[in-house]
Amino acid sequence: PDTSASLPLNVDHTGRPIRRRGLMLVLSSPSGAGKSTISRALLAEDPDISLSVSVTTRSPRPGERDGTDYYFISDEHYHAMVDQDDLLEHARVFDHYYGTPRRQVEDALTAGRDMLFDIDWQGTQQLADSLPRDLVRVFILPPSTAELERRLRTRAQDPEEVVARRMAKASDEMSHWAEYDYVVVNTEIDAAIARVRAILTAERLRRERQPGLAAFVNAMREEA
Ligand code: 5GP
Repeated sequence: PDTSASLPLNVDHTGRPIRRRGLMLVLSSPSGAGKSTISRALLAEDPDISLSVSVTTRSPRPGERDGTDYYFISDEHYHAMVDQDDLLEHARVFDHYYGTPRRQVEDALTAGRDMLFDIDWQGTQQLADSLPRDLVRVFILPPSTAELERRLRTRAQDPEEVVARRMAKASDEMSHWAEYDYVVVNTEIDAAIARVRAILTAERLRRERQPGLAAFVNAMREEA
């Protein structure tokens, strides 16, 4: 069996992980392309990555929990956070405001933990401006418009007019595919999950994300 997902990547001779800086994995897609299924799978099987919980001014959908899915806040609270520079990025999406609290992300990266972001292209562009070296951008595409619409309809929570508007917005969102580092077409969900996981593994192994390597190699060379 493949146990690689549950093991720290690079460890030294004592079994301790080699110090690395965390990365920011952004998954963007038109709604209905499978992004949340992929996110859930990654988060469930990998203790080293956690979801960046955004603030939003929209109200919770049935089943959504404050502090888990979003921090549901008022417009006043949102604007205060913007004014105090508490948000790493923020944007208006559809009719509401969304943003990423700065603190949780900066702490995680320094501690060598990765963060997963479910944010739109506007937020992704802002992260590319502020923290380009920590950013890994993945765009998820649906296999076809017909399949996208079918998937949106099975998500029964949204009223019909919301589905129609999201279909219109989907083509907007998809126009930004070329601003991403990786593009995965979600034809088959398990394959899509495996591909995003492969991207995450490769990006974690980038030399510049492993500041602990120098000490590790130097110690080996002294012994040799
Ligand atoms: P929903 O309201 O369906 O949860 O999300 C609507 C859209 O807002 C999705 O495309 C989602 O990726 C985006 N979004 C959620 N949180 C944030 C955020 O913190 N920043 C930005 N820029 N977009 C977000």
